[in-house]
Amino acid sequence: MHPRQWIEIRPAGIYCTPGDFYIDPTSAVPRALITHGHADHARAGHGAVMATAETLAIMASRYGSEFAGSRQIATYGEELSHNRVGIRFAPAGHILGSAQIKLSWEDGSIVFSGDYKRRRDPTCPPFEVMSADVFVTEATFGLPVFVHPPIEQEIAKLLTSFRQFPERCHLVGVYSLGKAQRVICHLREAGFDAPIYLHGALVKLCQLYEEFGVALGPLIAVADQDRAALAGCIVLCPPSALHDRWASRLPDPVTALASGWMRIRARAKQQAVELPLIISDHADWPELTQTLSDVGAPEIWVTHGREEALVHVAQRMQLRASALSLLNDDEEDD
Ligand SMILES: [Zn+2]
Ligand SMILES: [Zn+2]
Repeated sequence: MHPRQWIEIRPAGIYCTPGDFYIDPTSAVPRALITHGHADHARAGHGAVMATAETLAIMASRYGSEFAGSRQIATYGEELSHNRVGIRFAPAGHILGSAQIKLSWEDGSIVFSGDYKRRRDPTCPPFEVMSADVFVTEATFGLPVFVHPPIEQEIAKLLTSFRQFPERCHLVGVYSLGKAQRVICHLREAGFDAPIYLHGALVKLCQLYEEFGVALGPLIAVADQDRAALAGCIVLCPPSALHDRWASRLPDPVTALASGWMRIRARAKQQAVELPLIISDHADWPELTQTLSDVGAPEIWVTHGREEALVHVAQRMQLRASALSLLNDDEEDD
């Protein structure tokens, strides 16, 4: 049966009728499948939750161990089912534990991408192409202007500034889940082996990544009294801390921000970012359009972001395409 007949959009989000469960619901529901740990996808208070072991650990770390009534681990590639709906989680290449979810019911199938990217990411396995009748794609950066440069180039920009201004502190705004750990891994790959200093809000998730085998090298949590001594150091903090009182005691900081939105100069200016780093954990425009043709699904539903342009491109590719209007909360990550 075609997924149009058994997938509904309800107030809490995407609902599978025969399975009686939601995917990434925006409010507490009896049963949820969760693609990944970002706050706009993974919420506390559901009855039963199915997700990867990494995502369940992230949710427990953020919401406490009682975040759901019960939980079930989905391993990448494992064939699971609920109420005779086939369920398969596959890597999405977005952050640690992130998954696409494929559902199969009678002779129909649908893949929900969750958030994804196609670039190499040392913190998680790469996006796996799965065929289906319908592919539901995110579109956070769904406009042709969004072309993310190679991350190596952006990390080199940071390291060049670091060498040029050894008397200043380099303060880099990064989202605490995913972006922080990926930036750290790429600094290590670029040969930066000195300690990296962390704002307290980043410490727990970095530990969790290390527990799951992602090596991050020497990290030091910044204690209040130490801030003045951080000249010549790289310090990571959440974007919200870049200009707050926490940052004001750092020695002459070069303010950097790692985000896909840094492609838009006005945004960097508006946020008073001296060193914008265009680093995103979402697919850019070429990756989005490439993925439509790689997946090869005859029907595309576009959600999470700038939907119109991608719908238009899909239609030009002779695909049936429409925008899924969900209540989009602000992305936690970009
Ligand atoms: Zn995400
Ligand atoms: Zn998201």
